[in-house]
Amino acid sequence: MEELFRLAEERAELIDGIISDITSDLRIDCGEGCVYCCYGVPLWVRLIEAYHLLHALNSLPIRDRKEIASRLRVYRKEYESSAEREGYRPESPTAEESLDLGKLGLVCGLGMNEIPCPFLSEEGMCRVYKARPSMCRLTLFFDRSVCKRDWENPLSFIWSREIAPFIEEVRGRFRKRWSTELKRLQEKYPYLDLLRLEKEMIFLPYHLSLDPLKKTFKLKAFYSP
Ligand code: SF4
Ligand code: SF4
Repeated sequence: MEELFRLAEERAELIDGIISDITSDLRIDCGEGCVYCCYGVPLWVRLIEAYHLLHALNSLPIRDRKEIASRLRVYRKEYESSAEREGYRPESPTAEESLDLGKLGLVCGLGMNEIPCPFLSEEGMCRVYKARPSMCRLTLFFDRSVCKRDWENPLSFIWSREIAPFIEEVRGRFRKRWSTELKRLQEKYPYLDLLRLEKEMIFLPYHLSLDPLKKTFKLKAFYSP
């Protein structure tokens, strides 16, 4: 398990390094504490990211862990109602390619746009910032006032015409670099099936639970090297 956490940390650092390279010619207004994009997020994460989050969550004070567990329950309830309304509720775990991101956008971005990510604190800070999944790392924009405007307007539906193409441009640049770096990372960790850890997606609120006695989060066993 320790090796899995090390891999997850290294992977996150690698992602940040690539992002910094590929956005060197762009102006980016994102940073810790800017959280207009932390509402109505689909908590579908890669398996490797789930382990990274698990590690970060269990390093938080017990009070935060209990609060997050209760907010995960609220989030899950809202997700289920919205998924039923939209008629889309994929099985979890599933392969990345089988997720319909457009429909997930309707379920979460539209149906839950006032629901904060359960990891957001009352003070408006991400409590798992260093372990945040790649969907958060790769949600970038050059003017937070535009994000604020969209966040204040529930009908703007996820991201406006200005924001979505920018994010797509950054993600396109990222994808070009990522497959090569992923191969290098796999060579460094030959005993871990990085491809599976990277491609398998899980809906976190279904698989993360707080042990009532130990007050630590656990993840249903998915991966054994
Ligand atoms: S995408 Fe927008 S809301 Fe999110 S961190 Fe960047 S500037 Fe802030
Ligand atoms: S994990 Fe953190 S950065 Fe990502 S949506 Fe949640 S609060 Fe925001």
